[in-house]
Amino acid sequence: MELEIHDVSKTYANGVQALKAVNLTIGKGMFGLLGPNGAGKSSIMRTIATLQTPDSGEIRFDGQNIFANPTEFRRQLGYLPQDFGVYANASATDMLDYFARLKGIRNAKERKNRIDELLDLVNLTEHCHKAVDTYSGGMRQRFGIAQVLLTNPKVIIVDEPTAGLDPAERNRFYSILHQLTDSAIVILSTHIVGDVTNLCGDMGILNRGAILARGKPDELVASIERQIWHKSVSRDELRQLRLAHKVISTRIVKGEIQATIQSDTAPATNFTQSAADLEDFYFSYVPELAV
Ligand code: ADP
Repeated sequence: MELEIHDVSKTYANGVQALKAVNLTIGKGMFGLLGPNGAGKSSIMRTIATLQTPDSGEIRFDGQNIFANPTEFRRQLGYLPQDFGVYANASATDMLDYFARLKGIRNAKERKNRIDELLDLVNLTEHCHKAVDTYSGGMRQRFGIAQVLLTNPKVIIVDEPTAGLDPAERNRFYSILHQLTDSAIVILSTHIVGDVTNLCGDMGILNRGAILARGKPDELVASIERQIWHKSVSRDELRQLRLAHKVISTRIVKGEIQATIQSDTAPATNFTQSAADLEDFYFSYVPELAV
């Protein structure tokens, strides 16, 4: 099972070049597409979902160009966009039944079994008769996953699914997504580094329409091991530090500014070296805005 994205570029009618020759080969399991807002994540997701065509380049699933027969590809695709509509007052069971009919599951018993199984998978059995538009953000996302899974898709695309979820809802959502990775290609777009750390065996960093880094999270982190240094600084010191060093991020720790610097050698004697993590790797490619 393989999805190959070759040199995909897209410029919108307003002149924004959202994708610049994107190349990615994605296999079974969970792939994290990490990037800041405006990086082009939704653009690549919508393109894979065949909702828009690239200006140039190609996307192949198991060797077949997905745009040659989009209807056929869509049968194998599950797409959970950032905002998906729900019908006022309809319960989860009723909506899933409606979508299952649309997707051609004609046998009522088969539909009921599949819907019961999916509601159980996403932990919504208890709430299945409540109107979906009264659900919390996390319940809605879980409902969205149930809907996407109705037809056992081989390629599952989830666009920024954890934005707006509280930590408990996010964890519950992670554990559901995690169960899908044995049987499908799951592509998860997010601006939250923790989503990728917790879930993805493979990842890419997208910024300004281009893939900046690609690989397994562990290996990417290993590539900057021993290069991460911390120091608490004043605002003036931080300004000086930026002139001489690669300050990749800053955060407030116990009321002080802690600067993180990437350097092969100690920037000065009073810096503390620390273990690199995926956030450091991300910020080494997508620098944080200066505070
Ligand atoms: P992300 O999902 O990473 O936030 P998007 O793919 O939504 O990024 O957007 C990438 C860039 O393309 C942004 O500059 C955005 O404003 C622009 N963009 C996205 N969709 C459209 C569109 N339909 N028409 C014009 N510009 C768009």
